[in-house]
Amino acid sequence: MNRLHVDPENYEFSDKDIPVIWFAFGPQRIGSTALTQHAKTITPAAASLEALARQRILILDGAMGTQIQTLGLTEEDYRGAGGCACAHHSDHPQKGNNDLLILTQPQAVEEIHFRYAMAGADIVETNTFSATSIAQADYGLEKAVFDLNAQGARIARRAMDRATAIDGRPRFVAGAIGPTNRTASLSPDVNNPGYRAVTFDDLAVAYGQQVTGLIAGGADLILIETIFDTLNAKAAIFACLQAFAATRVTLPLMISGTITDASGRTLSGQTPTAFWHSVAHARPFTVGLNCALGASAMRPHLAELAGVAPTRICAYPNAGLPNAFGQYDETPDQTAAQVADFAREGLVNIVGGCCGTTPDHIRALAEAVAPFRPREVPQ
Ligand SMILES: [Zn+2]
Repeated sequence: MNRLHVDPENYEFSDKDIPVIWFAFGPQRIGSTALTQHAKTITPAAASLEALARQRILILDGAMGTQIQTLGLTEEDYRGAGGCACAHHSDHPQKGNNDLLILTQPQAVEEIHFRYAMAGADIVETNTFSATSIAQADYGLEKAVFDLNAQGARIARRAMDRATAIDGRPRFVAGAIGPTNRTASLSPDVNNPGYRAVTFDDLAVAYGQQVTGLIAGGADLILIETIFDTLNAKAAIFACLQAFAATRVTLPLMISGTITDASGRTLSGQTPTAFWHSVAHARPFTVGLNCALGASAMRPHLAELAGVAPTRICAYPNAGLPNAFGQYDETPDQTAAQVADFAREGLVNIVGGCCGTTPDHIRALAEAVAPFRPREVPQ
């Protein structure tokens, strides 16, 4: 048979115990690939997370950005004056580069993680939303990406261990992967619709660096979040599966999309159902929605996702919609009451908060969903 095929005779285990499948052209082997879905090692943290998720609705943390804002940091603070001076040099202004605080104000970042943990978060997200070479290019800090991710995971781990030492509850670090500031499906130039500012391959390389750092720093799971362009997310998924194959450790994946318009679609034009079918191959630990909308406006889209996805559902809305000044007015009780409705209706397995939420929101939300059972995952 002189065409490309998978030779069943050539299915074998490599010396690293990863099942490898060979491709053949006629009798000639031309390449092989590791079967990442079968990667053997499941971490103890993943097993413990699975078990906990069967028992109760788990709590994710709230916004990092709004907590950082309250610190009123200056350009000098961002650069590390009075904290840890950054080993990576850049002439660009750094104020607003929140991820950089991992290296220059690690104590402050650890404290925010710790407050969320003590407010009831089982899972906290690393402060690495923009820690890719693509997003850090704006700040001239592409070379800092590995350190940002590895240190970001270590800081979160330290905060979780401190919280666990106090109350004995297990806690997990989710390595946060943002969408970057470019979109692979759409042109940023209205006069040139075929133009792309970034490609799948560019994204896969950048996400590969990011996830390698997160794994090195000890992240328990990976959260690909605020997905407005599914093609960007698919590059992130690809990079994760590659990294899992290379490290022989498969971490649970959480995948979270963002509905950006009133018709209930992502920026790249997908309904929640289409979004699920585009990422289902990753067999994620959770799929869900975050950001853009407050809880009430998110509800119908979440219900649609829960209706089609045979995996756990995660929701972390903003504290309502932003006001004219871009601030979020919903009180902890208001947000918590709406998120409790998700739980009452059996829609969710993990809940938390996005923009505008605080440790008080997370505390209120954890109390509000406590009486309800997690959603039964359809087989
Ligand atoms: Zn948000």
